Amino acid sequence: MPPLMSPAPNRLRCAEPALHAAYGPRRWRRHLPPLDELILTVLSQHTSDANTARAFQSLRARFPTWEAVRSAPTTEVADAIRSGGLADLKAPRIQAILDSVLEERGTLDVDHLAGLPLDEARRWLVTLNGVGPKTAACVLLFSLGKPALPVDTHVHRVAKRLGLIGPEVSADQAHAVLEAALGGDRDRVYAFHVNMIAHGRALCTARRPFCERCPLTGCCEYYAEHATARSGAGAASGSAPSGGGGNDPLPGAPRANGKQRPPVTPRDHGRAARRLGRAPGAVRGGAVGS
Ligand code: SF4
Repeated sequence: MPPLMSPAPNRLRCAEPALHAAYGPRRWRRHLPPLDELILTVLSQHTSDANTARAFQSLRARFPTWEAVRSAPTTEVADAIRSGGLADLKAPRIQAILDSVLEERGTLDVDHLAGLPLDEARRWLVTLNGVGPKTAACVLLFSLGKPALPVDTHVHRVAKRLGLIGPEVSADQAHAVLEAALGGDRDRVYAFHVNMIAHGRALCTARRPFCERCPLTGCCEYYAEHATARSGAGAASGSAPSGGGGNDPLPGAPRANGKQRPPVTPRDHGRAARRLGRAPGAVRGGAVGS
């Protein structure tokens, strides 16, 4: 597939209902006000949802207003968000964003974005210091209900394995490619985002994909390629080939004790799904870009 070509519609049509069936339908709900969402998203970079929530609550408890955060000594802001990790990096980034908003708007709110078309709102957000496509998409989708797709590390990895984007497509490029394919439907974009993250955490993990329990095998380019490789290698050598992730078990491979692996169950993704439900804003996987 050429790098920036839209995903094959039939692959997306196959994957979406399979994701819904495995992880449940998702309905968009409003999260935080836009500026809160923006700061929360910065805090979520390279950390878990639980640590993000803790750091955000601590920041809000320590400083009553965003102006208080902006004008505080950076070390105090860093202390307040220490539980979220990378505090010495995130504190100046948050203050730089608040400085930019104040300079651009004359006030510390970005509520005007609600009235702008999606592309215009995105363009405005990415002009802020330290705001990239993923952070902008989080604000646009979660807070403003616009059909912007945040592409985090899970969405990016799973989309590549499924063949929804080409292997060379970066996370930043994937925003436009996948959004175009999802057709500007906020609820569809939201469900796709949340379910792709759930799937990336539960089964299609970075370390190895658990294809043998995956309900998306019929939609998946990675699975098709490795299943083909398996039958070829197996015929040639009679040995068990690798599944593409180091010592990955093969898609559909039996366990070492000879028994077949069980199909996907709610417990496979229950932990991830519970985390999704508890997150203060919504799911954010490990950061890809900003
Ligand atoms: S079949 Fe394997 S690679 Fe494809 S989505 Fe499922 S777990 Fe990921």
